[in-house]
Amino acid sequence: MEDARAALRRIFGFDSFRGVQEQVVARVLAGQSTLAVMPTGAGKSLTYQLPAALLPGTCVVISPLIALMHDQLRSARANGIAAAALTSADADWRETVDAFCNGALDLLYVAPERASQPGFRDLLNRGRVALFAVDEAHCVSEWGHDFRPDYRLLRPLMDGFPGAARLALTATADAHTRADILEQLGIPQEGMVVAGFDRPNIRYAIRHRQSVPAQLAQLMEEEPGPGIIYAPTRRKVEELAAQLERQTGREVRPYHAGLPVEVRAENQAAFVASEDMVMVATIAFGMGIDKPDVRFVAHAGIPKSIEAYYQETGRAGRDGDPALAVMFWGAGDFVAARQRVSEVEEARQKGEHKRLAALAALVETPACRRALLLRHFGEEPPPSCGNCDNCLDPPAMVDVTELARKLLSAVYRTGQSFGFGHVQKVLTGVSDERVSARGHDRLSVFGIVGADEARLLQPLVRSLQARGALVATEHGGLALGGDARKILKGERPVALARSAERAARKGRRAAG
Ligand code: ADP
Ligand code: ZN
Repeated sequence: MEDARAALRRIFGFDSFRGVQEQVVARVLAGQSTLAVMPTGAGKSLTYQLPAALLPGTCVVISPLIALMHDQLRSARANGIAAAALTSADADWRETVDAFCNGALDLLYVAPERASQPGFRDLLNRGRVALFAVDEAHCVSEWGHDFRPDYRLLRPLMDGFPGAARLALTATADAHTRADILEQLGIPQEGMVVAGFDRPNIRYAIRHRQSVPAQLAQLMEEEPGPGIIYAPTRRKVEELAAQLERQTGREVRPYHAGLPVEVRAENQAAFVASEDMVMVATIAFGMGIDKPDVRFVAHAGIPKSIEAYYQETGRAGRDGDPALAVMFWGAGDFVAARQRVSEVEEARQKGEHKRLAALAALVETPACRRALLLRHFGEEPPPSCGNCDNCLDPPAMVDVTELARKLLSAVYRTGQSFGFGHVQKVLTGVSDERVSARGHDRLSVFGIVGADEARLLQPLVRSLQARGALVATEHGGLALGGDARKILKGERPVALARSAERAARKGRRAAG
């Protein structure tokens, strides 16, 4: 078989693999099932398209979005790879089926709904399957942010073809979701390959929202290059686009799913071609758009999760030149988000609340944003990056070491299994049935926190969680972790950002 590197040059015209691509391709060519966790733009498609071109037989690609599928199809064909799709949008089913059965297809794209039908297994038995590539693999996990029940039927399908390796691909998966993907798709633990998530050229900043148009206009004045502004609703998109164009004199266009298809296509094409245009958009904009020189991504309100934030800000600076990611948030954003969570089906609420709490920690942290982001994705970054707002301009801090010691002590003395609500009652001297039944009203920490300090407990818990000194137990309780013992002994100071402290005293916090 042709050497992978030679094939990379011949088929794709690239001189070298990027990051973990080589490792993933090598595993797949050796028939080893693999989960590749790679950020958007890292080049996931190549990791199955290249083996598909080299291996005898067909690579079956399960992909959830028909539009993206057809983009991929076009680019694969442009590279001379024999690719086809079986979707309702494809008229050439007969030819595709014949090509597959004759072993003439490198790539066969299908949606999970189709792949999970019994007829599809029969079809696969009539040809030769070299490899299963499962795109957006986090959809298989209820822990992921986009669970799709049909993904659960892929495992039984793939089990019917033991000779074909499995390659699961995702850009967004926390540790829990990753473990779940491995299990749900039958990929061994050692089959996980994780690419570095750091985007060092992106400067992160997260600011309180005062006047969004004024703040965005200022950002646009400082940054003349192309930019994307994410706004929460279609109406906001249109308002902001008009307002910003008037105010700055720059070309600003709107993009959201409510606009006619032609207008959307035209605005998108104009943006991709432009060197200074700003697109105000809902999150409907961005997926599959190849524009490497986006100089800033701004959020006019909070994104859905840290994963979404990472993916959306990741559209800035793909060319490696300096780029900005700025979020403007208000406490009301979290109130509204919590309201939405309370309306989803019960089974999903806990996960959604966790996602929101993680986002709140990112928004409120007085420490390095990048370090927090990378820790979220399972990396162990240095404590400060020198290229985020908090590293460049450290916020004023208030010492809360004593309060932190009281809090950690209460967590310890109540047995490291209770949630925040219980610990708070103990500390502030509120005795209910649960407190008295456990004798927690007789502990030395009972009632040692006054009303004024009590308001700081919640931001403090989040800050201690962000730094790892408090960790969540499986059942939602709090336990000591990281440097908690050093804090308890008085060997480590604990501080909160003055802004968080002020907001807490006024009752304006991100999450509660
Ligand atoms: P992902 O699916 O991970 O978001 P893509 O597969 O769309 O990323 O690839 C992103 C871009 O990187 C594409 O334009 C692709 O052609 C390019 N690319 C991928 N691998 C390489 C490589 N080894 N060298 C140069 N460019 C690459
Ligand atoms: Zn930093």
